[in-house]
Amino acid sequence: MKDILIIGGGPAGLTAAIYAARAGKSVTVCEKESLGGQITQAHEVQNYPGIPTISGMELGDRLCSHAMDCGAEVEFTAVTALTRHDDGSFTAETEDGSIDARAVIFAGGAKPRALALPREEELVGRGISYCALCDGGFFRDQDVAVVGGGNTAIGDALYLAAICRSVTVIHRREEFRAEDTVLQSAKEAANIRFVTSATADALHGENALEGLTLRHRDGSTSQLDVTGLFVALGRVPDLSLLSGLTGWAEDAYAAAGEDCLTTVPGLFVAGDCRAKEVRQLTTAVADGTTAATAACHYLDKLSK
Ligand code: NAP
Repeated sequence: MKDILIIGGGPAGLTAAIYAARAGKSVTVCEKESLGGQITQAHEVQNYPGIPTISGMELGDRLCSHAMDCGAEVEFTAVTALTRHDDGSFTAETEDGSIDARAVIFAGGAKPRALALPREEELVGRGISYCALCDGGFFRDQDVAVVGGGNTAIGDALYLAAICRSVTVIHRREEFRAEDTVLQSAKEAANIRFVTSATADALHGENALEGLTLRHRDGSTSQLDVTGLFVALGRVPDLSLLSGLTGWAEDAYAAAGEDCLTTVPGLFVAGDCRAKEVRQLTTAVADGTTAATAACHYLDKLSK
Protein backbone atom coordinates (compact mmCIF):
# COMPACT_ATOMS: atom_id res chain seq x y z
CA MET A 1 0.00 0.00 0.00
CA LYS A 2 1.52 3.29 -1.16
CA ASP A 3 0.82 6.54 0.67
CA ILE A 4 0.15 8.49 -2.50
CA LEU A 5 -0.50 7.41 -6.08
CA ILE A 6 -0.05 10.19 -8.61
CA ILE A 7 -1.76 9.67 -11.95
CA GLY A 8 0.05 11.70 -14.60
CA GLY A 9 3.75 12.45 -14.91
CA GLY A 10 3.66 15.99 -16.24
CA PRO A 11 4.91 19.07 -14.38
CA ALA A 12 1.95 18.98 -11.93
CA GLY A 13 2.32 15.27 -11.13
CA LEU A 14 6.12 15.31 -10.89
CA THR A 15 6.10 18.41 -8.69
CA ALA A 16 3.55 16.71 -6.42
CA ALA A 17 5.88 13.69 -6.32
CA ILE A 18 8.85 15.85 -5.31
CA TYR A 19 6.90 17.50 -2.48
CA ALA A 20 5.25 14.32 -1.20
CA ALA A 21 8.45 12.25 -1.31
CA ARG A 22 10.40 15.00 0.45
CA ALA A 23 7.68 14.94 3.14
CA GLY A 24 8.52 11.29 3.75
CA LYS A 25 5.57 9.70 1.94
CA SER A 26 5.85 6.65 -0.29
CA VAL A 27 4.89 7.79 -3.77
CA THR A 28 4.24 6.11 -7.12
CA VAL A 29 3.73 8.15 -10.28
CA CYS A 30 2.00 6.47 -13.25
CA GLU A 31 2.53 8.02 -16.67
CA LYS A 32 1.13 6.49 -19.85
CA GLU A 33 2.82 8.51 -22.59
CA SER A 34 5.76 10.79 -21.93
CA LEU A 35 7.34 11.68 -18.61
CA GLY A 36 7.24 15.45 -18.47
CA GLY A 37 3.82 15.46 -20.12
CA GLN A 38 2.73 18.05 -22.64
CA ILE A 39 5.79 20.20 -22.03
CA THR A 40 8.00 17.60 -23.75
CA GLN A 41 6.34 18.67 -27.00
CA ALA A 42 7.51 22.28 -26.66
CA HIS A 43 10.59 22.97 -28.78
CA GLU A 44 11.70 25.64 -26.39
CA VAL A 45 10.41 26.77 -23.00
CA GLN A 46 11.26 30.39 -22.18
CA ASN A 47 8.90 31.12 -19.33
CA TYR A 48 10.05 28.91 -16.46
CA PRO A 49 11.44 31.25 -13.80
CA GLY A 50 15.18 30.97 -13.34
CA ILE A 51 15.70 28.98 -16.56
CA PRO A 52 15.65 31.49 -19.43
CA THR A 53 15.60 28.79 -22.09
CA ILE A 54 15.40 25.00 -22.10
CA SER A 55 13.94 22.39 -24.43
CA GLY A 56 10.67 20.89 -23.19
CA MET A 57 12.20 17.43 -23.44
CA GLU A 58 15.12 18.36 -21.19
CA LEU A 59 12.85 20.04 -18.65
CA GLY A 60 10.66 16.91 -18.58
CA ASP A 61 13.75 14.71 -18.05
CA ARG A 62 14.98 16.95 -15.25
CA LEU A 63 11.61 16.99 -13.47
CA CYS A 64 11.45 13.21 -13.65
CA SER A 65 15.01 12.69 -12.39
CA HIS A 66 14.35 15.17 -9.59
CA ALA A 67 11.24 13.26 -8.46
CA MET A 68 13.10 9.92 -8.57
CA ASP A 69 16.10 11.36 -6.71
CA CYS A 70 13.66 12.40 -3.96
CA GLY A 71 12.50 8.78 -3.69
CA ALA A 72 9.38 8.68 -5.86
CA GLU A 73 8.81 5.54 -7.94
CA VAL A 74 7.86 6.17 -11.53
CA GLU A 75 5.93 3.58 -13.54
CA PHE A 76 5.48 3.90 -17.26
CA THR A 77 1.95 2.52 -17.48
CA ALA A 78 -1.63 3.64 -18.08
CA VAL A 79 -4.13 3.60 -15.23
CA THR A 80 -7.29 2.04 -16.66
CA ALA A 81 -9.65 2.20 -13.64
CA LEU A 82 -9.72 3.73 -10.18
CA THR A 83 -11.88 2.52 -7.29
CA ARG A 84 -12.25 3.68 -3.69
CA HIS A 85 -12.88 1.14 -0.93
CA ASP A 86 -14.99 1.43 2.25
CA ASP A 87 -11.82 1.97 4.33
CA GLY A 88 -11.01 5.06 2.20
CA SER A 89 -8.09 3.51 0.30
CA PHE A 90 -7.89 3.36 -3.48
CA THR A 91 -6.99 0.69 -6.04
CA ALA A 92 -5.79 1.69 -9.48
CA GLU A 93 -5.90 -0.93 -12.22
CA THR A 94 -3.05 -0.42 -14.63
CA GLU A 95 -1.93 -2.01 -17.89
CA ASP A 96 0.58 -3.98 -15.82
CA GLY A 97 -1.33 -4.91 -12.65
CA SER A 98 -2.78 -2.88 -9.81
CA ILE A 99 -1.58 -0.33 -7.26
CA ASP A 100 -3.13 0.33 -3.82
CA ALA A 101 -2.78 3.73 -2.23
CA ARG A 102 -4.18 5.67 0.72
CA ALA A 103 -4.51 8.89 -1.31
CA VAL A 104 -4.56 9.75 -5.02
CA ILE A 105 -3.53 12.90 -6.85
CA PHE A 106 -4.97 13.02 -10.35
CA ALA A 107 -2.75 15.14 -12.61
CA GLY A 108 -3.86 13.71 -15.93
CA GLY A 109 -3.56 16.95 -17.88
CA ALA A 110 -5.54 17.23 -21.06
CA LYS A 111 -5.50 15.47 -24.42
CA PRO A 112 -5.29 17.13 -27.84
CA ARG A 113 -8.61 18.36 -29.22
CA ALA A 114 -9.36 16.41 -32.39
CA LEU A 115 -10.72 17.83 -35.64
CA ALA A 116 -13.65 15.43 -35.30
CA LEU A 117 -13.60 14.60 -39.02
CA PRO A 118 -14.46 11.23 -40.53
CA ARG A 119 -11.34 9.02 -40.97
CA GLU A 120 -9.26 11.21 -38.63
CA GLU A 121 -8.52 8.38 -36.19
CA GLU A 122 -7.70 5.95 -38.98
CA LEU A 123 -5.15 8.38 -40.48
CA VAL A 124 -3.31 9.09 -37.22
CA GLY A 125 0.26 7.98 -37.86
CA ARG A 126 -0.46 7.99 -41.60
CA GLY A 127 -0.34 11.72 -42.11
CA ILE A 128 -2.30 13.07 -39.16
CA SER A 129 -0.34 14.08 -36.08
CA TYR A 130 -0.99 15.99 -32.86
CA CYS A 131 2.73 16.57 -32.16
CA ALA A 132 4.97 18.38 -34.62
CA LEU A 133 8.09 17.86 -32.53
CA CYS A 134 7.47 14.09 -32.34
CA ASP A 135 6.48 13.49 -35.97
CA GLY A 136 7.77 16.43 -38.03
CA GLY A 137 10.87 14.48 -39.09
CA PHE A 138 8.71 11.99 -41.03
CA PHE A 139 7.67 14.77 -43.42
CA ARG A 140 11.06 16.02 -44.57
CA ASP A 141 10.79 17.95 -47.86
CA GLN A 142 7.05 17.33 -48.04
CA ASP A 143 4.08 19.71 -48.13
CA VAL A 144 2.23 19.80 -44.81
CA ALA A 145 -0.49 21.82 -43.09
CA VAL A 146 -1.06 22.94 -39.52
CA VAL A 147 -4.55 23.65 -38.30
CA GLY A 148 -5.06 26.14 -35.45
CA GLY A 149 -4.17 29.72 -34.61
CA GLY A 150 -2.68 29.57 -31.10
CA ASN A 151 0.93 29.54 -29.92
CA THR A 152 1.17 25.80 -30.48
CA ALA A 153 -0.01 26.00 -34.10
CA ILE A 154 2.27 28.88 -35.04
CA GLY A 155 5.23 27.43 -33.11
CA ASP A 156 4.64 24.13 -34.91
CA ALA A 157 4.52 25.90 -38.28
CA LEU A 158 7.89 27.54 -37.60
CA TYR A 159 9.41 24.23 -36.48
CA LEU A 160 8.04 22.38 -39.52
CA ALA A 161 9.13 25.11 -41.94
CA ALA A 162 12.75 24.16 -41.24
CA ILE A 163 12.08 20.51 -42.19
CA CYS A 164 9.28 20.50 -44.75
CA ARG A 165 9.00 21.97 -48.25
CA SER A 166 5.95 24.03 -47.41
CA VAL A 167 3.65 24.62 -44.46
CA THR A 168 0.08 25.89 -44.81
CA VAL A 169 -1.51 27.25 -41.64
CA ILE A 170 -5.29 26.84 -41.66
CA HIS A 171 -7.15 28.96 -39.14
CA ARG A 172 -10.89 29.46 -38.69
CA ARG A 173 -10.70 33.23 -37.99
CA GLU A 174 -8.69 36.24 -39.23
CA GLU A 175 -7.30 37.03 -35.74
CA PHE A 176 -4.82 34.75 -34.02
CA ARG A 177 -4.42 33.81 -30.37
CA ALA A 178 -0.68 33.32 -30.94
CA GLU A 179 1.65 36.01 -29.61
CA ASP A 180 2.55 38.72 -32.13
CA THR A 181 6.29 37.99 -32.09
CA VAL A 182 5.91 34.34 -33.01
CA LEU A 183 3.20 35.18 -35.56
CA GLN A 184 5.42 37.78 -37.17
CA SER A 185 8.27 35.26 -37.55
CA ALA A 186 5.87 32.84 -39.24
CA LYS A 187 4.61 35.54 -41.60
CA GLU A 188 8.19 36.30 -42.58
CA ALA A 189 9.07 32.66 -43.34
CA ALA A 190 9.27 32.06 -47.09
CA ASN A 191 7.67 28.62 -47.01
CA ILE A 192 4.77 29.29 -44.59
CA ARG A 193 1.47 30.48 -46.03
CA PHE A 194 -1.77 31.27 -44.24
CA VAL A 195 -5.31 30.30 -45.16
CA THR A 196 -7.63 32.12 -42.74
CA SER A 197 -11.38 32.00 -42.19
CA ALA A 198 -11.22 28.38 -43.31
CA THR A 199 -11.59 24.96 -41.73
CA ALA A 200 -10.53 21.47 -42.71
CA ASP A 201 -13.70 19.84 -43.97
CA ALA A 202 -12.64 16.41 -45.28
CA LEU A 203 -9.55 14.21 -45.31
CA HIS A 204 -8.43 12.37 -48.46
CA GLY A 205 -6.13 9.43 -49.15
CA GLU A 206 -6.53 5.66 -49.19
CA ASN A 207 -3.85 4.33 -46.85
CA ALA A 208 -2.22 7.64 -45.98
CA LEU A 209 -3.21 11.29 -46.08
CA GLU A 210 -2.97 12.81 -49.56
CA GLY A 211 -4.95 16.01 -49.14
CA LEU A 212 -7.77 17.98 -47.58
CA THR A 213 -10.89 19.79 -48.57
CA LEU A 214 -10.98 23.26 -47.05
CA ARG A 215 -14.23 25.07 -46.41
CA HIS A 216 -14.05 28.85 -46.57
CA ARG A 217 -16.23 31.33 -44.73
CA ASP A 218 -18.21 32.21 -47.90
CA GLY A 219 -19.20 28.54 -48.20
CA SER A 220 -16.83 27.76 -51.08
CA THR A 221 -14.42 24.81 -50.89
CA SER A 222 -10.90 24.21 -52.18
CA GLN A 223 -8.46 21.32 -52.26
CA LEU A 224 -5.07 21.30 -50.54
CA ASP A 225 -2.53 18.59 -51.43
CA VAL A 226 -0.57 17.73 -48.28
CA THR A 227 0.88 14.51 -46.92
CA GLY A 228 0.94 15.74 -43.32
CA LEU A 229 -1.64 17.51 -41.19
CA PHE A 230 -0.63 18.72 -37.73
CA VAL A 231 -3.66 19.34 -35.53
CA ALA A 232 -3.03 22.11 -32.94
CA LEU A 233 -6.49 23.04 -31.65
CA GLY A 234 -5.69 23.20 -27.96
CA ARG A 235 -6.41 20.47 -25.44
CA VAL A 236 -9.43 19.01 -23.65
CA PRO A 237 -9.50 17.24 -20.28
CA ASP A 238 -10.19 13.52 -19.91
CA LEU A 239 -11.74 12.77 -16.52
CA SER A 240 -13.04 9.32 -17.46
CA LEU A 241 -11.08 7.75 -14.57
CA LEU A 242 -12.74 10.05 -12.03
CA SER A 243 -16.29 10.47 -13.28
CA GLY A 244 -17.57 7.39 -11.41
CA LEU A 245 -16.10 8.62 -8.12
CA THR A 246 -16.93 12.31 -8.44
CA GLY A 247 -19.93 12.50 -10.76
CA TRP A 248 -17.96 14.89 -13.01
CA ALA A 249 -18.48 14.84 -16.76
CA GLU A 250 -15.65 13.04 -18.55
CA ASP A 251 -14.87 15.92 -20.92
CA ALA A 252 -15.21 18.88 -18.54
CA TYR A 253 -12.50 20.40 -16.37
CA ALA A 254 -12.35 19.06 -12.80
CA ALA A 255 -14.49 21.20 -10.50
CA ALA A 256 -11.84 21.67 -7.82
CA GLY A 257 -10.69 25.01 -6.47
CA GLU A 258 -7.20 26.41 -5.94
CA ASP A 259 -6.90 24.09 -2.90
CA CYS A 260 -6.96 21.10 -5.32
CA LEU A 261 -9.47 19.29 -3.06
CA THR A 262 -12.33 17.19 -4.40
CA THR A 263 -15.50 16.08 -2.63
CA VAL A 264 -13.99 12.59 -2.34
CA PRO A 265 -11.78 12.26 0.77
CA GLY A 266 -8.24 11.35 -0.22
CA LEU A 267 -8.65 12.37 -3.89
CA PHE A 268 -6.92 15.52 -5.14
CA VAL A 269 -6.57 17.05 -8.62
CA ALA A 270 -3.74 19.14 -10.00
CA GLY A 271 -2.67 20.83 -13.22
CA ASP A 272 -4.35 21.44 -16.56
CA CYS A 273 -7.21 19.01 -15.83
CA ARG A 274 -8.53 21.39 -13.17
CA ALA A 275 -10.97 24.25 -13.86
CA LYS A 276 -8.84 27.41 -13.72
CA GLU A 277 -8.17 30.66 -15.54
CA VAL A 278 -4.52 30.20 -16.50
CA ARG A 279 -3.07 26.93 -17.76
CA GLN A 280 0.67 27.34 -17.85
CA LEU A 281 3.70 25.34 -16.77
CA THR A 282 4.07 27.50 -13.67
CA THR A 283 0.43 27.10 -12.62
CA ALA A 284 0.69 23.32 -13.10
CA VAL A 285 3.75 23.27 -10.85
CA ALA A 286 1.87 25.39 -8.29
CA ASP A 287 -1.02 22.92 -8.31
CA GLY A 288 1.38 20.01 -7.80
CA THR A 289 2.73 21.72 -4.70
CA THR A 290 -0.74 22.48 -3.32
CA ALA A 291 -2.15 19.00 -4.01
CA ALA A 292 0.85 17.22 -2.46
CA THR A 293 0.71 19.39 0.63
CA ALA A 294 -3.04 18.75 0.99
CA ALA A 295 -2.55 14.99 0.47
CA CYS A 296 0.20 14.90 3.12
CA HIS A 297 -2.03 16.76 5.63
CA TYR A 298 -4.85 14.32 4.85
CA LEU A 299 -2.61 11.30 5.50
CA ASP A 300 -1.10 12.82 8.65
CA LYS A 301 -4.60 13.43 10.05
CA LEU A 302 -5.61 9.84 9.26
CA SER A 303 -2.67 8.41 11.18
CA LYS A 304 -3.29 10.54 14.31
P1 NAP B 1 -5.08 27.60 -27.84
O1 NAP B 1 -4.33 28.84 -27.49
O2 NAP B 1 -6.32 27.28 -27.10
O3 NAP B 1 -5.40 27.69 -29.41
C1 NAP B 1 -6.23 26.76 -30.01
C2 NAP B 1 -6.48 27.18 -31.46
O4 NAP B 1 -7.30 26.20 -32.07
C3 NAP B 1 -7.21 28.52 -31.56
O5 NAP B 1 -6.68 29.24 -32.64
C4 NAP B 1 -8.66 28.09 -31.86
O6 NAP B 1 -9.33 28.99 -32.69
C5 NAP B 1 -8.43 26.82 -32.65
N1 NAP B 1 -9.56 25.89 -32.52
C6 NAP B 1 -10.07 25.35 -31.40
N2 NAP B 1 -11.08 24.49 -31.69
C7 NAP B 1 -11.19 24.51 -33.04
C8 NAP B 1 -12.03 23.83 -33.96
N3 NAP B 1 -12.96 22.96 -33.54
N4 NAP B 1 -11.88 24.09 -35.28
C9 NAP B 1 -10.94 24.95 -35.70
N5 NAP B 1 -10.10 25.62 -34.88
C10 NAP B 1 -10.23 25.41 -33.57
O7 NAP B 1 -4.16 26.28 -27.71
P2 NAP B 1 -2.56 26.13 -27.82
O8 NAP B 1 -2.03 26.87 -28.99
O9 NAP B 1 -2.29 24.68 -27.73
O10 NAP B 1 -2.03 26.82 -26.49
C11 NAP B 1 -2.50 26.40 -25.19
C12 NAP B 1 -1.81 27.26 -24.11
O11 NAP B 1 -0.43 26.96 -24.06
C13 NAP B 1 -1.90 28.76 -24.41
O12 NAP B 1 -2.01 29.46 -23.19
C14 NAP B 1 -0.60 29.06 -25.06
O13 NAP B 1 -0.20 30.40 -24.97
C15 NAP B 1 0.33 28.12 -24.31
N6 NAP B 1 1.50 27.77 -25.13
C16 NAP B 1 2.66 28.43 -24.86
C17 NAP B 1 3.78 28.16 -25.61
C18 NAP B 1 5.06 28.87 -25.28
O14 NAP B 1 5.06 29.74 -24.43
N7 NAP B 1 6.17 28.53 -25.92
C19 NAP B 1 3.74 27.24 -26.67
C20 NAP B 1 2.54 26.61 -26.93
C21 NAP B 1 1.42 26.89 -26.15
P3 NAP B 1 -9.96 30.36 -32.10
O15 NAP B 1 -8.81 31.26 -31.81
O16 NAP B 1 -10.85 30.82 -33.19
O17 NAP B 1 -10.72 29.96 -30.85
